[in-house]
Amino acid sequence: MSKRPTTAILPFLATASVWLGCMLAATADSGLPDAAKAGFADKLYRLDCGHSLANDESVWTPGENVGRSIEFLSTCWLIQRGNEWLLWDTGVPEATLNDPKGWSTLPKLIVYHLDKRITDQLATIGLKTIDITYVALSHTHGDHIGNVNLFPDSTVLMQRAEYEWISSADGPNDNVNQLKALARKLLGTPKHLKLLAGDTDVFGDGSVTLVATPGHTPGHQSLLVHLKNSGFIILSGDVVHLQENFEKNTVPSLNTDKGASIASMDRIRRLLATYNAKLFINHDKAQSDTLKLTPAFYD
Ligand SMILES: [Zn+2]
Repeated sequence: MSKRPTTAILPFLATASVWLGCMLAATADSGLPDAAKAGFADKLYRLDCGHSLANDESVWTPGENVGRSIEFLSTCWLIQRGNEWLLWDTGVPEATLNDPKGWSTLPKLIVYHLDKRITDQLATIGLKTIDITYVALSHTHGDHIGNVNLFPDSTVLMQRAEYEWISSADGPNDNVNQLKALARKLLGTPKHLKLLAGDTDVFGDGSVTLVATPGHTPGHQSLLVHLKNSGFIILSGDVVHLQENFEKNTVPSLNTDKGASIASMDRIRRLLATYNAKLFINHDKAQSDTLKLTPAFYD
């Protein structure tokens, strides 16, 4: 399958006024599709992009679960629409593969492991990295952008706010400074980089929409996907880490903005109601273990 030139997103890049519209839509929802008229993506595949063990769950559930260890999954998603493919996040770096010591973004807190190559999982459905039109990034934490450099021909889609944040000078929080430095290293200098300003309709038909959900990081985004049989599905990114976070409205202590995090969770709740959608939570092991895994898919 060869990579096709893509034009659908270009109108969205054409004028500053459109971008201003997108920015306004980030709060007003007006940039999002009409549920009754939205086009459809063809298939949604889950890829195993790693798993991790953290030694203190209370980092994600402040005030509760102090000192309790927790296992998270790292999930990537692959979406087909016609001849185009969008990869949502790229997971734990392949250099970690089968390393018993694992890999860490913050060594005192969390250790990641990787059992499967993303490229091997793509191969099981007949794809090479060059077939991936877009690599869309929920945010720039290392377990989400670990393999961006495997897709040099793809167009990387991320929020401008996120790019400017990782490019900004260090602040007082050392953990945050470390995560930003790692993000710069893993992201490198993509050949094809589109910096977005809020909600963005990727294919121009409402089938796949990037939704601004800042708070975990300044330019965090989630993804709204429309499928013929499965309906609307929201891929969380890290707008929440666990179903429990979502139910209790708790904000991890590593998030860059607590108020924005709560507003983004509220926004997701509103979208779940508007679109009668399901929420697939990236790191929630209990939920993810129940979801289909490549080569099975949602359609
Ligand atoms: Zn994160």
